[in-house]
Amino acid sequence: MSVASPEFGVNYMKKPIVIAVVSVSIMVAFRIIMGGLALLSGELSLVDILVHIMLPIVAAVLILVGIIKGHRLAWQWGRLLGLAAAIILTVAAVVTFAYSAEQPGMMIVAALVALQGIPLFPMFFALGTKAAKEHFRLICPSCGNSKVKGGNFLFTRAICRKCHATWS
Ligand SMILES: [Zn+2]
Repeated sequence: MSVASPEFGVNYMKKPIVIAVVSVSIMVAFRIIMGGLALLSGELSLVDILVHIMLPIVAAVLILVGIIKGHRLAWQWGRLLGLAAAIILTVAAVVTFAYSAEQPGMMIVAALVALQGIPLFPMFFALGTKAAKEHFRLICPSCGNSKVKGGNFLFTRAICRKCHATWS
């Protein structure tokens, strides 16, 4: 493994970042498979496909790119949307599974939904680790505190909640 300067973390990825990238990739892969099957079955309208398949994939890919590049906005939304999606998809999978007794096809849908939701749980925890926060430059350079807030709309500046230092 090549070891890069800590300032240029894009050259190699820390473990929590790899976990987050793999998690989002798994979610996207199974969403694509589910979308493909839905298209083939002809049960979804074009609007359904756009809203329920394309939109989540685009959002996930944007977050994925942002996570790799170390954009704080991707860290923030990756955690928020990741956790929300993990809970919603897992609940949806359980409910679908419960109603799948007479329809074996629903069992496949339940499995596909579960495979999108469950990998997002480890992502939420991975992004909360110190190593992940280092990747996103979320550690205060003055006091080392890791509780920060956004200094501007795009979160390209961060403010330390403890000593109020700001950095980009
Ligand atoms: Zn500080």
